[in-house]
Amino acid sequence: MDMGSRYGVRGGAAPLGDLPLARTKIDYDVAARADGGLIDRLLDDPATRVVLVDRGLVAVPRGLSSSTPAALACAEDPAAPRPDAAAPMHEVGLSFMSGPSARSVAEVSGALVVYLGIERFGDTGVSYLALDVTRVGGASVLPDQASCDWVELRSLAPCASVRDAGLATSAIAVCAWHDRQRFCPYCGFPVRPTLSGWAQACTNPEDADRLLFPRIEPAVITAIVDDRDRLLLQHNCAWRPSFYSVSAGFVEAGESLERAVRREALEEVGIELDEVGYLGSQPWPFPASIMLGFRARARTTDIHVDGDEVEAARWFTREELGRAIACGEVEPAGRASIARHMIEQWYGGPLECL
Ligand SMILES: [Zn+2]
Repeated sequence: MDMGSRYGVRGGAAPLGDLPLARTKIDYDVAARADGGLIDRLLDDPATRVVLVDRGLVAVPRGLSSSTPAALACAEDPAAPRPDAAAPMHEVGLSFMSGPSARSVAEVSGALVVYLGIERFGDTGVSYLALDVTRVGGASVLPDQASCDWVELRSLAPCASVRDAGLATSAIAVCAWHDRQRFCPYCGFPVRPTLSGWAQACTNPEDADRLLFPRIEPAVITAIVDDRDRLLLQHNCAWRPSFYSVSAGFVEAGESLERAVRREALEEVGIELDEVGYLGSQPWPFPASIMLGFRARARTTDIHVDGDEVEAARWFTREELGRAIACGEVEPAGRASIARHMIEQWYGGPLECL
């Protein structure tokens, strides 16, 4: 670690590297989505590979994660260990079903099918679908369900290949939207999937041409440093006791990203910001966010937490943070999060957790 390097805000600020949920090798093949027969043909093709989704989880082969099934399982309870706390360091791949096998499930159950795109190899390629059984009885409608484990995206992504991380992120994001939005927000009629699962059509004859697309909720997240190159970390009231992270919040209607960055810092910790620079982004489909990462120089250093959302905040030198993590006083954001990568970029290397 180069302790002498200053954490730049503008000019020379390195972008974040490959974020776990921002990676993909799949061509979205958007132009093909309008082909109404596409999914049908792919379900007939034994070469089609189908990602399985159930209630926001994806299937991995049983055994690959057998040593840590609990760690890979979904942790909805905020007081439970974070999903990736004990995720394996070895690579875990997705479990795929063939096109014809997925067809028999979809035809019997009515499960949602979405075209995820194609992995190209020169003139050929492998096509991918997602099959979401959330609304049709869950994994019980699948044959051989005992042969897979169901894992949370935040657990899987840091230890998945680029291809599988991208497939899982797309599948979870688009399936979560269908699960959440079942009626037209304009007229209240039921909706049906269209454009190979990437849009919904309203079923009201008087609103028949209305197409609905997934709404993404932008959130800004900011690594704030002071003139001594210390990083500000905060503990929010809703988090586990030792969990600390950087400032984050949703963008308000009609607000620019930069203004949201400054507002959140002032509201949550009473810090005025000087320069603000963009770092990178990654989707965060829990259920529909995209996290936009910034770094900023603090104009002031006196901390005033709002006491409502943020309970505590403090400035850390690199040595102080390293010690606090080593002794368990501070638990940093999980490995899948952009926050973790932002903190590690400032720190100058991986954070060694207990
Ligand atoms: Zn409608």
